[in-house]
Amino acid sequence: MSNKTILVTGGAGYIVSHTSVALIEAGYDVVIADDLSNSSAGAVDGVRRITGTDVPFERVDCNDRAALRELFERYRFDGAIHFAAFKAVGESVDEPLKYYDNNVGSFLSLLETMRLFGVRNVVFSSSATVYGQPDVLPATEASPRKPANSPYGATKQICEDILRDAVAAYNSAGGPEEEGLRGIALRYFNPIGAHPSALIGELPRGVPNNLIPYITQTAAGIRAELSVFGDDYHTPDGTALRDYIDINDLALAHVTAIGRMLNDRQRQNYEVFNIGTGVPVSVLELVHGFERANGVKVPYKIVARRPGDAEAVWADTTLAATELGWRATRTLEQTLRSSWRWEQQLKK
Ligand code: UDP
Repeated sequence: MSNKTILVTGGAGYIVSHTSVALIEAGYDVVIADDLSNSSAGAVDGVRRITGTDVPFERVDCNDRAALRELFERYRFDGAIHFAAFKAVGESVDEPLKYYDNNVGSFLSLLETMRLFGVRNVVFSSSATVYGQPDVLPATEASPRKPANSPYGATKQICEDILRDAVAAYNSAGGPEEEGLRGIALRYFNPIGAHPSALIGELPRGVPNNLIPYITQTAAGIRAELSVFGDDYHTPDGTALRDYIDINDLALAHVTAIGRMLNDRQRQNYEVFNIGTGVPVSVLELVHGFERANGVKVPYKIVARRPGDAEAVWADTTLAATELGWRATRTLEQTLRSSWRWEQQLKK
């Protein structure tokens, strides 16, 4: 029996490269498609080296329907994982049309092309950002979504709704269940870390917005000191709480999600899962944990809160554990070591 073939869009990015490795290691054939507008082909090389496969890379803009159709004519896909999206929150506020066009447009193009070619299974990369500041913690999948803080956040909510509606509509068409669309949205909390080989990892462009790349660059001497955004939150040490999930664990959640749809063809409904650890960690705990794990110093100063930041967000992971059988397994120490290994090899 031939392997199942999975299209991953946005394939040259951080989350996708790790997911591609996990899919290949689980026995899937993977086709990576990306327009390289926000990433580099280096990540694809990393995937090839880690897996020892010549995974195909196709330079395709998912917003280009003709190009997408041409891709679906050349490969017979069993499913798709849609990562292709712009993700800079601040930029999305300045250039909303660019974000709606790219993030929503590319998902619509993908779903329409999937329908045209009878491809039934799709995983969408969503985000804990849809919860805003949850009223009750930890956030469950049933927690209400809050009005988005940015066009970026809005595109995640809109794409979730598009998937929900498409799955509902195309499954109620009355045809055999084989014709239905199946969809899973994975709401990522804060993905961090790198592959143990340090061949792939997060490659921020310019000054990092996210905490871990800023910490690793500060430890490496590229940045003088980390700014900790606020120590007057209502949290044990005053700094904000997040749920930091190892990128390799997160990658495996996609393997489980796509397998759930492929192996249970009766499954009709749209599903949403939190992908986190369930453990809140403060900014200062992460800084000190990084210092301890790696034996390095991370100079920091406390500055004002960053506008738009939530005080505390962490996941209830019960549903992913009971339904998907997935849970995070790496320790924070392991993950923080992998972040530092990745940063260190970047200068080589
Ligand atoms: N943060 C910080 N300094 C930085 C970057 C981030 O103190 O240079 C804090 C930020 O305020 C938040 C946490 O670290 O409380 C995680 O931020 P990140 O941007 O990584 O992810 P977010 O949860 O905002 O998506």
